[in-house]
Amino acid sequence: MSETIQIKTLTPLWTGDIDGKCSRIKETGIIGSLRWWYEALMRAGEHDVCEGGCNNEDGKETCLVCKLFGCTGQKKTFGLRVSGEFKSSEFIIYHYPGRGCRDSKWWLNEGLLSKSNSKFELWNNFPNDDSKELIKSLIGFLSENAGIGARTQFGYGIIDSNIIDYDLSLLKRWVGEIKHTESIFFLKIRFEISERTMNKIFRDTRDWKVCRSNGYLPTSPYFRYLLRKSLRDDEDITKEQRHVLFGFLNLRSSPVIATNSYLKISHMYELENSVWEMRIYGQIPEEGYIKYGDNKRTINLSENVHDWIEKLGRDDFWDNITTNGMNIVNFDFKWLEEVLE
Ligand SMILES: [Zn+2]
Repeated sequence: MSETIQIKTLTPLWTGDIDGKCSRIKETGIIGSLRWWYEALMRAGEHDVCEGGCNNEDGKETCLVCKLFGCTGQKKTFGLRVSGEFKSSEFIIYHYPGRGCRDSKWWLNEGLLSKSNSKFELWNNFPNDDSKELIKSLIGFLSENAGIGARTQFGYGIIDSNIIDYDLSLLKRWVGEIKHTESIFFLKIRFEISERTMNKIFRDTRDWKVCRSNGYLPTSPYFRYLLRKSLRDDEDITKEQRHVLFGFLNLRSSPVIATNSYLKISHMYELENSVWEMRIYGQIPEEGYIKYGDNKRTINLSENVHDWIEKLGRDDFWDNITTNGMNIVNFDFKWLEEVLE
């Protein structure tokens, strides 16, 4: 028996095709992001978790992540299928406000937005095992606090938690007590933005009003730009730490070099009555790595980075970086342990 979860996108979903587009929502992309988060949560609970998949064939006990998501020699304990229709979001050419047009372009490729019948179907693969409920709990947790699918660092992947009926206590029970504290954080900020400010920010951005008519604003590159600038101005943060936090992007190389970003910054989505919300969330490991060409270097992410993350949860920080006509209505900064309290 399968169970369906209605999916309502607040920002476009993205799972990558081979050619770098997103023509449909692929189950592997959704499951990959669920696995990534489950693994991060399990590590925060200091469970013993493998690197890159246990190999069950040698008879060893599989770890909790592989038990649920499968690995060589072991099938995952749940199934997930994407069903119903989705529609393409607009391809956006974003321009950073106030900078010359030539160097400040950002391509936001078309992701997919839900329609009224967009669903995930979940089922159990084994009798006497109810993994689908745990997966539902994980999807609920991510819909409330983070994002799903790929490219969440560039604004994609926010879905509405209000229509998902999930039981967070299931996920909490599996994660257990958070022992590795203050490593995963979630921030939600609500804004009121005047029409004038919106027009100013997006003055040179093609088709942003189509996004607005779909309930979101393509603000992820804008806030990535503002936050990166704030890091550059922070004397305690090194350039390499900044590159690790935000990912390193070289648009001039071919192919473009991009490393993963630990900071995920959603687009803004409309709640009601011109109140817009965005999420900034991520995992700050003790060290990260960066690749310059073939040269991979390990970078220490020290207390300074942690201090900077904590600043994200403060009014005065945002007062300094946001523009006029963008009023913060509400803040909600939480470490993982507070979310799972
Ligand atoms: Zn494993």
